[in-house]
Amino acid sequence: MKRFCYRCGALEAQQGPLIQGLCQRCFAEENRLLQAPAELEVTVCGRCGAYLLGKRWHEAERGDTIANAIRATVLSNLKVARLSDAGTKFFYPHEVPELELWVEPKLAERVINVRAKGKVHELQVKPQLDEARIKFMLKRSTCDVCGLKSARHYEAILQVRGKLKKKKSSEVKKMLQRLAMNASKRERNAFIAKVEEQREGFDLYVNPVNLARQMASMLKLEFGAKIKESAKLIGQTRDGRRKFRFSILVRLPSEKD
Ligand SMILES: [Zn+2]
Ligand SMILES: [Zn+2]
Repeated sequence: MKRFCYRCGALEAQQGPLIQGLCQRCFAEENRLLQAPAELEVTVCGRCGAYLLGKRWHEAERGDTIANAIRATVLSNLKVARLSDAGTKFFYPHEVPELELWVEPKLAERVINVRAKGKVHELQVKPQLDEARIKFMLKRSTCDVCGLKSARHYEAILQVRGKLKKKKSSEVKKMLQRLAMNASKRERNAFIAKVEEQREGFDLYVNPVNLARQMASMLKLEFGAKIKESAKLIGQTRDGRRKFRFSILVRLPSEKD
């Protein structure tokens, strides 16, 4: 018996394997590859370019900050359909390695054109193409970390003390600032909120407390500094945990001439 497509009547022998009773072309027409929202809101921090996905802020990537934020927002809102005998399942684009995807934002028109190439069903001889046009709104906001920075928030004070010459003191400060820079690449909320000169050294106001501890251990390792940490209860977090402010005193040995 000759099998044929129930939609258009094409013969399986001529058009390739039927998928759920449909020829290759009709199957592709009946089953979309992409599931895309009609509209999206793209939220970008006006200060640092970080972008918001769900409830989490992500560090801005190199290059065109807005285009990258749009792309990341699209990728986290786009689903790809995969059909099997068990039914239809939807995946994020990064979960479908063989998918080819183009995301093209048109800033002036406030739309994002998305094109995709992939298979919805494994019996498809060729990958199918799909396109979506998503309207978007660009929203400028202030991210979590920039909010803390502008409030000069800090978890710990690192008090660096010692009878140091000016040159040595600024060398130590630069070392610590470099450490903070590197930490901020791994952890968005790592930063120095403020530097204050003191009579015999300086204070660094640091987030989070772990960064201050790292700084202290570096000075211990490099210069044999003595460390003393103390904590003061300053209140409660919204979820009822106790909140502390830490002071870490780092005493550097005096310089010998
Ligand atoms: Zn057909
Ligand atoms: Zn920011």
